[in-house]
Amino acid sequence: MAKQDYYELLGVAKGASADEIKKAYRKMAMQYHPDRNQGDKDAEHKFKEISEAYDVLKDEQKRAAYDRFGHGAFENGRGGAGGFGGFDFGGGGGGFADIFDEMFGEFMGGRRGGGAASGRGQDLRYNLEIGLEEAFKGTTANVRVPSTVACDSCSGSGAAAGTQPVTCPTCQGHGKVRAQQGFFTIERTCPACHGQGRVIKDPCKSCGGAGRLRKEKTLQVNIPAGVEDGTRIRLAGEGEAGLRGAPPGDLYIFLAIAPHPIFQRDGANIHCRVPIPMTTAALGGTVEVPTIEGSRTKVTVPPGTQSGHQFRIKGKGMSVLRSQQRGDMYIQAVVETPVNLTKKQQELLREFDTAGKEGSHPQSEGFFAKVKELWEDLKD
Ligand SMILES: [Zn+2]
Ligand SMILES: [Zn+2]
Repeated sequence: MAKQDYYELLGVAKGASADEIKKAYRKMAMQYHPDRNQGDKDAEHKFKEISEAYDVLKDEQKRAAYDRFGHGAFENGRGGAGGFGGFDFGGGGGGFADIFDEMFGEFMGGRRGGGAASGRGQDLRYNLEIGLEEAFKGTTANVRVPSTVACDSCSGSGAAAGTQPVTCPTCQGHGKVRAQQGFFTIERTCPACHGQGRVIKDPCKSCGGAGRLRKEKTLQVNIPAGVEDGTRIRLAGEGEAGLRGAPPGDLYIFLAIAPHPIFQRDGANIHCRVPIPMTTAALGGTVEVPTIEGSRTKVTVPPGTQSGHQFRIKGKGMSVLRSQQRGDMYIQAVVETPVNLTKKQQELLREFDTAGKEGSHPQSEGFFAKVKELWEDLKD
C-alpha cells in the first residue's frame, strides 16, 4: 500500500514554510471535513490523510525525520526499522538509538520510560565505580544487568512459532483511532492493539505474547583511558527489550571514580602532596614519588625548598580521552619538621642554630621586620 507523499497530499513544495503548510492544510481540512461531507467515504479518507500529513509536517522534528526517511520513519517496531533502508547501523555502537533519540524524541513514545504507544523498552541505569588507575589505563568492566531480553522462541514478535502478528483491524495498523465529536476530531491510542498497530492471534507460549523475557545479561563495557568522574556512557539498544519487537531501550552507565589515597585528579593533571624531610629541603637532594602508571619517578629538590613549593613533572599526569597526550603531575612539597628527636639531635640542632648567620631565614626575618614596624606605629 504505497502511501502518498505528505507534501503532495497537501499540495505544497518540499521546501514550503510552516506558514504555507498550515494554510494549505486549513484550506483542505475545510473542504474535506466529515461534517461537510456527511457519508462521503472518499472525503473522510482524504481528511484522514491530510490530517496525518499535517501532523508530521507541522512538527519540525517529525518533518526532519520524514524528509530523511520517508514514511518508514513513523512505522512502529521492526517495520519501522526497515523503513530506514540503506542506513548503516554499524556494530550497535550508537547508530540506531542515537538517530532515534535525535529524530523522534517524544514522538515515538519518549526516551524516558518508553511510551506505551511504541512499546519501546525502558532505559536502564547502572552505576559503576572504578579506580583512578583504571581511569588512567582504561579498562573492561563486566556489567550484569537485570533486564528483559527479546524472546528466543518467537524472535521477539510475541506470535507463536509459524504465525505472524497481523495488522490490527480496529485501526488498520495506525495504532490510533479518531473519533468525531461535532467539529472536533479526537485521536486516541487504539484500544485493540494498544498503539502497536498489530495484534497477535496466537500468542507465543514462552513469553505469553509479550515478545520478551526477564533475564540477567552480562555485558562487557570498554571504559576508555582518560574518562572523567560522572561520565555517562550510553549503550544504545542495551536497555530492556521492547514490547513485541519494538525497539529496545538504552543502557546508561554512570561512571564514578573512587577517591585515590595519594593522587588528586584535576582534569588531565594529577596533584600529589609529598612530605620532604627538613634536612633534604634545606640541603637539597632527591625524593622518589609514585606515578599513576604504577612506576616511580625522581624529583630533584633544590637546596632551600620551602613547604608548599610545587614541582611540575611534565607528561606524568592522567591520560587524555581519545588522545595520546597526557597531563602533568604536580608535586607539592610539604616540609616535615622532625619529631621525637634524640638528645644528640637536639644538641646538634641547638648548635646549628647558634652557628647560623643572618639571612638564612628570609621569611621569618621579613615577617618579624614587619611586625616590628607595626608595633612601632602603635606606639605613636
Ligand atoms: Zn515469545
Ligand atoms: Zn489497533
